[in-house]
Amino acid sequence: MQPTKKYALPAEVRAQFPFFDTKPEIHYLDNAASSQKPRCVIETLHQYDAYEHANIHRGVYGISERATDRYEKVREKLAAFLHAKRPEEMVFTSGSTESLNTLAFGLGTRLQPGDEILLTVAEHHANLVPWQLVAARTGARIRYIPLTADYRLDLNAAAELFSPKTKVFACAHISNVLGVIHPLEILIPMARAVGAAVVIDGAQGIVHLDVNVQSLDCDFYVFSGHKMLGPTGIGGFYGKYEKLCELPPWKGGGDMIESVTLEQSRFKCPPHRFEAGTPPISACLGLGRALDFYATLDRERLEAGNLALSKQLTAYLRGRKGYRVLVPADETAWVGIVSFHHERIHAHDMAAVADTQGVCVRAGHHCAQPLMQVLGVTATTRVSPYLYNTQADLDALFRALEQVEMLL
Ligand code: PMP
Repeated sequence: MQPTKKYALPAEVRAQFPFFDTKPEIHYLDNAASSQKPRCVIETLHQYDAYEHANIHRGVYGISERATDRYEKVREKLAAFLHAKRPEEMVFTSGSTESLNTLAFGLGTRLQPGDEILLTVAEHHANLVPWQLVAARTGARIRYIPLTADYRLDLNAAAELFSPKTKVFACAHISNVLGVIHPLEILIPMARAVGAAVVIDGAQGIVHLDVNVQSLDCDFYVFSGHKMLGPTGIGGFYGKYEKLCELPPWKGGGDMIESVTLEQSRFKCPPHRFEAGTPPISACLGLGRALDFYATLDRERLEAGNLALSKQLTAYLRGRKGYRVLVPADETAWVGIVSFHHERIHAHDMAAVADTQGVCVRAGHHCAQPLMQVLGVTATTRVSPYLYNTQADLDALFRALEQVEMLL
């Protein structure tokens, strides 16, 4: 059903989130870590768990069949959300981390010494450690695309690093620390030219962009429900169907097999081959509801509003002494995640003082320790607004920063 009116103002969106009803004094600016959930998602979780629960795919009775239909409907919605060719290209997992481990394991079975996995220095640990495990198992070598001085991927270096040895290229769509949208339209053709499999970590990309996996021409695209207004414990990945067919599963168990004997098993076709065991059914339905909710929003206008808040913040920080703002000078191809560092105030102190003012921001290495080393810092403070944040949140942050500086 097409919504008649689309919400375009953060205050209208905010009104749909019970979290803010109960905590009007809280200024939640840690959305890159996890977003809040709209009322309709929470109601879906409750409704299903309270009144409609039965296990899926196995029952021949009505409640189970209805749960199965609804679960599979979410797959259809996700395929439409990412512009995939068909629902069978969408695999459910617990989130980006499990998706990346599944892909690293599966693609890793084809690697041998001398092969190369190309990553970037700006990856989240979830798109780094699984490949390190694979490299240790197979003898493949990991290489990294460096950054320019302006916090973007160095495309000249990338062009040198791609070679026929490159079997996998795995890269975030958007950096969770820098907020930079990586130029996949340049990098993916480079990977294609050498025949590498292309894995995109879309944990942040799907949150901010209208992602079209077909026009991106990636082989795999990974995401987490809890960053996109959905519940924790559910997420997944897109895979081109023929690529999914070539990928061995890493997780065995019920629901993923065609037949089992004491000697061997035959697996189902994708996507079910990758979905062993009972999934978090209500969370999956909640994610489906979050996708419906997105359809009620004017995402483009809301994103533009977010970006305007973030630009105010970078201008403010750049105008004060002691701050290093880890954002490209040219704020295009950037989604408004603001990481910054103060020469005399530790990020944890910054976040702790902000908390006393009701402002929730993240401090630390953001699961990107190698990137911190490249940037020459041990930690940053990260502010990440989303569709329901308003000027009042930013003003509270400014007040908190003034408070912090008074401690100097
Ligand atoms: N990749 C990126 C870019 C992320 O931002 C995150 C979450 N911070 C992850 C992967 C891991 O996501 P999850 O913890 O939901 O598995």
